[in-house]
Amino acid sequence: MTAPATSSAPQAPRTNLLGVPRPALEALVAALGGRAFRARQLMSWIYRRGVGSFAEMTDLSREFRARLALAAEVRAPEIVALQRSSDGTSKWLLRADAAQAFEMVFIPEVDRGTLCISSQVGCALDCSFCATAQQGFNRNLSTAEIVGQVWLAARELAREEAGGAPLGDAEAAATPAGHRITNVVLMGMGEPLANFRNVVPALDILLDDFGFDLSRRRVTLSTSGLVPQIYRLAEVSNVALAVSLHAPSDALRNELVPINRKHPIAELLGACWHYLDEQNGRSVTFEYVMLDGVNDSPAQARALARLLKGHPAKVNLIPFNPFPGTRYRRSPAPVIQRFRDELIQRGVLATVRRTRGEDIDAACGQLAGRVIDRTTVRLGSKVIGVGVQP
Ligand code: SAH
Repeated sequence: MTAPATSSAPQAPRTNLLGVPRPALEALVAALGGRAFRARQLMSWIYRRGVGSFAEMTDLSREFRARLALAAEVRAPEIVALQRSSDGTSKWLLRADAAQAFEMVFIPEVDRGTLCISSQVGCALDCSFCATAQQGFNRNLSTAEIVGQVWLAARELAREEAGGAPLGDAEAAATPAGHRITNVVLMGMGEPLANFRNVVPALDILLDDFGFDLSRRRVTLSTSGLVPQIYRLAEVSNVALAVSLHAPSDALRNELVPINRKHPIAELLGACWHYLDEQNGRSVTFEYVMLDGVNDSPAQARALARLLKGHPAKVNLIPFNPFPGTRYRRSPAPVIQRFRDELIQRGVLATVRRTRGEDIDAACGQLAGRVIDRTTVRLGSKVIGVGVQP
């Protein structure tokens, strides 16, 4: 193809509004000659009504819409594939780049709909029982890609509802909450606090009245325990905090969650209590994956209770979800019950997470996406994810 002789200077890339928090959007609107309240109107269209085309935003002037269309866009990640579990759970594979993909999962329940989103393509933390860890780290998702997951899922779910598409599960299909996102958890691929810079503005948009307008208690960030970033988060956000603890002793946690070698349990718990104090939060949820014969004995339950007793803590026991190549097995149900009872008898709140989406590899820790070009990254004291996979 021949370029036209009079080609003008290359156009600046358009700003993806999905990643822009309200103050920055107000500045962008002002730069386009609009008044500040136009930013709120724009956000209402985008997030409340799920509209991505400026042409449909009929309470904005035609001229302003034309200027917007030149400077900005609303662009969500592209869907590569959708899988539906027999229990109504949906998993979407989303495109990051030509060869890279990441996943999000929607879990419909009677009284709520939880969207589990990713924060990175792959993960650098190398937890020994996690499928994402096996593929190494590729890159951070942008704020637009993080927010875009929620936007896209909300649109897809609304579209299905309008079209009456069955969810594949009687419970989900029969309940009004089944199609709506009421909760968002950053528990998909990646370590959200290792992508602090892009995750925090995404949290702002999730909570903003003109954004997704979710209450702070319905947005949960789950971390493997990046202690300095928990302190930083306490200064800028107040979402619910979940921490992947998985072991009551440093010796075992060093093995399961290697970042523990850098930030041991006592330091981590200190950061958690600080977060609650700063944010006036109710409690921290401690995730504890139940690995047969590894961390599931009554003595380990008692040790865990000693760590958490008297603190505003809840323990969420997650039956291990196996994936190809793993050396771990799931603890038997009676062992999990016994572990839970030991905690409860010692005054520590504990629940067992119901596993969802197992038949489509959508359960906790099974998200694998697609990571081909791996990047070398240094987190903690380890070098992880070197080289390129064929
Ligand atoms: N990096 C963050 C968030 C992603 S993982 C974190 O570590 O918290 C979300 C939760 O799933 C974590 O508690 C993680 O430890 C758990 N998980 C990982 N692999 C799992 C598996 N195979 N079975 C069950 N839970 C798993």
